[in-house]
Formats: sequence, structure tokens, C-alpha cells
Amino acid sequence: MKVAEYHGFNDIRIADYPVPEIGKGEILIKTKVCGVCGSDLLEWYRKQKKTPFFGHEVSGVVEKVGEEVKNVKVGDRVFVNHHVPCFTCHWCRRGSYTMCPVYRRTDFYPGGFAEYIKVPEINVRNGVIKLSSDVSFKDASLIEPIACCLRGLKKAGIKVGDTVLIIGAGFTGLSHLQLAKMMGAGLVGVCDFFDFKLEKAKLLGADFVINPSKENVKEKLYSVNEGRGADIVVVTPSSVKAIQDAIEYLDKGSTLYLFGPTSPEDYISILPYRFFFSEISLITSYSSSPIEDNAVYRLIKEKKINTEELITHRFLFDEIAEAVRVARRAEDSLKVIVEFL
Ligand SMILES: [Zn+2]
Ligand SMILES: [Zn+2]
Repeated sequence: MKVAEYHGFNDIRIADYPVPEIGKGEILIKTKVCGVCGSDLLEWYRKQKKTPFFGHEVSGVVEKVGEEVKNVKVGDRVFVNHHVPCFTCHWCRRGSYTMCPVYRRTDFYPGGFAEYIKVPEINVRNGVIKLSSDVSFKDASLIEPIACCLRGLKKAGIKVGDTVLIIGAGFTGLSHLQLAKMMGAGLVGVCDFFDFKLEKAKLLGADFVINPSKENVKEKLYSVNEGRGADIVVVTPSSVKAIQDAIEYLDKGSTLYLFGPTSPEDYISILPYRFFFSEISLITSYSSSPIEDNAVYRLIKEKKINTEELITHRFLFDEIAEAVRVARRAEDSLKVIVEFL
């Protein structure tokens, strides 16, 4: 089978590997769609990985099942998450599913950018969603990345009527926008340097948009928000500058929510005095759990999320190098997906 290998942004290769053998509790998936994730594009993040395989936003068809598998059968159309929690450890019992050691360890093989994927037993049990016939493979590949956004907004404690400012109108920014509206936000604003993305944000329901290269973000925010900062500021870019700027947009009693990870060497400076006396909270959210995956699956199935506007480019697997190149081009791409014949 053909498998993509990542050796650097400009060095994506397709190599031949044997189709994996499966064990008793495992399944083999024939990949249909895999999305390019922002984390596939972060050089420092990729360097921490020990294998050349990548891609994890996957949907496909069950090709083979081990003799002990009961919950899926050959021919089922499925979404599968690469990481799953054990639901029994200390962290799982506290609800921090993505901090579970099993979660970090689990992964499917070789990766999403492969013609076939072997899914380990625990992922089969805790990470597979059978797709109803009205959910496309394309839409199902968006379950995991949108679920990450849902988990973050839940952690940020979004309340009905809140003013939410989203920094970055990429795929995750626009997913946060749609979810925040659905979760009852009173006013949602989106900031980005590219007008193409701000137009999308308006189309998807943003109450106001700001291009920081043309307008003063704080002034515009205060002018539309009764002279106050935002209740929640969501920072989607993996950028220290974006985080540092975001601090200026926070109201008293607000939450700074970091969605995009920065590199291990990056620092930000905060004024604890202001965070204390203004009761500002800082939260982060890493990845998603089966709880959000299932919730987002239902939202997609019930057409509560506009997925059409989020996917800007579709490539065939043979064109994976071009897909990665386009995904890195922030000015005109949102979600880039790769389709398998
Ligand atoms: Zn991802
Ligand atoms: Zn656990």
C-alpha cells in the first residue's frame, strides 16, 4: 500500500509498505479522507515525532475486523480517532481525558495519509464512530478538529450572552465561531489579517470582524461591545505575538483561552497584578475526547455546522505534497483535505 512520509515541508514522499496485519481486537480501515491539520504544518511539533507518518483527521471503510471485534463489521463507514483515553485512570476520573497516559500513547498505524490504517483494540472500543449514510467521508474527517474546538469552548466556560473574540479566522477560528454562536454567545468577533477569511467569518455569522492591519482591534472591540473587552478571547494561532496582543482585549472577569500551542522555547509576559485584580483566567485545551467527537458527529449529522465553507481545497492522495503546500498558504486556504480513490 502507499503511505506518505514527512521528511520536511518540502520533502513529502510516497513510499510502499505492506498492508498491516491485524490482531483479534483490531480493525483495518480503507482510508477515504484525511484532512491536513495545523499540527502537520508546525515544524517544531513535527520534529518531536518519532515516525515519518502523519495525518490523523480520518474517515474510511472497515476492510477487515479481528475475530473478537463486536462493535463494527466489514463495510461499515467510520470515523476513527487516533488518540483515546482509558476512562479509568486518575486523569480520566477527573475528566482530563487528554492528559490520560493511554491517550498520549495510543495511535493508529501508520497514519492517516496511508491507503490502509490498522486501528488498535482500545481505539476500536473507545474511538470509532459508525457514520450514518447521510454523513459524507469528507464531513466525517472534520469531526476531530472541530471536536478540539468544542472541548476548548467548554473548558473556557462560555455562557449565554458572552462576548467572544476569536483571533485567527482559519479553519479552527471559524469552527470556534460557529460553535460559540451555537453555545449562546451574544456577540462574536473574529480577527484576521486576510480579508478572504474575514468574509468567510461574516458568512458564517460573525457579528463583527477586524483586520488588525487596517483597524485598531481594541478600539473596534470596545466600540461594538459597550466600551468593554471580551468575556472570552480565543487565540488560535501558534504565536506568542498573538497571545501577547490578546491580553489587551480581555475584560474584567474574563478568560484567555489558548488553542494553538507555541514552541517549547516560547515565553509570554503577563502582569499578575492585572490578572489578579481583574480576575482573569487562563485556560488551554489540548485535543478532543470521545465525548466531544460524538457531540460534533451529531452536530454535523444534523447539519448544525456549515462544513461546506470550511473546506477550501481537495486533493487526491498522489497530490499530498501539493496539499501540504496549499495548507501552509494561510492567505487563501482553510481546511485542505486529501481524498483516496
Ligand atoms: Zn489535528
Ligand atoms: Zn485514562
